[in-house]
Amino acid sequence: MKQQLKLLRQLQELDLEKDKLEERIGKDRERLQSSSFVLEGLSSDLEAQREQLEGTRGLHRSKRLEVEETQGRLNDAKNKFHGVTNSREYAAAEREVEGFKKSISQIEEEVGQLSAAINEAESQISEREAKIAELRRELDEDQASIEVAAKEIQDRATVISNQITALGKDIQAPVIGRYRFIRSRRPGQRAVVSASDGACTGCFMRLPPQLYIELQRGTKLETCQNCQRILYFEAEVKSADESAIS
Ligand SMILES: [Zn+2]
Repeated sequence: MKQQLKLLRQLQELDLEKDKLEERIGKDRERLQSSSFVLEGLSSDLEAQREQLEGTRGLHRSKRLEVEETQGRLNDAKNKFHGVTNSREYAAAEREVEGFKKSISQIEEEVGQLSAAINEAESQISEREAKIAELRRELDEDQASIEVAAKEIQDRATVISNQITALGKDIQAPVIGRYRFIRSRRPGQRAVVSASDGACTGCFMRLPPQLYIELQRGTKLETCQNCQRILYFEAEVKSADESAIS
């Protein structure tokens, strides 16, 4: 059983390495996904702003036409002065002229406000376009480097998978079956842990003395009664200082 546990621990190290590789690539892809959501959001905001700008430009054009038309009517009204025959007609023509002048100045003010709004929107849009282009460049670079890393990780994971398969052939079915079952319940965690100083190092519960003795003999598969992990005996745990020296 000691030899079996040794193989199982080797297998576990491979499994843990493979999990870590998969986790890394998953995180990279998540990051890429969220950047691309941000970019999509900015692009659709930009699209909305462009549409709004088109609306403002349309209004600006029609207001300017309105100024021209009113200008024409003002000129007609001015011409009426030539034909006036009395003061009543003169006063009426004067009122008409004043009315058109007032309209023109109101519409021109609106045209001015619309021009300012157009300039403002144009500069905001070009800032956004620059920002989006920058983000897109970054995202493309990120994507390219992630693809390269993913390929390397995938290759490494394949090698590890083959090693796991090869190693698994030398481990008894009940032992590996038990190991796989525990790992399925504790994804990414260790299923084989050492027992040292009379305790399980997986959950730190003290082990019954009889179990501890059985473990030292190493004749059969023993599991922690608390966390169900497979146990192996380790004579002593080196302190941090000793580990640093050795
Ligand atoms: Zn335990």
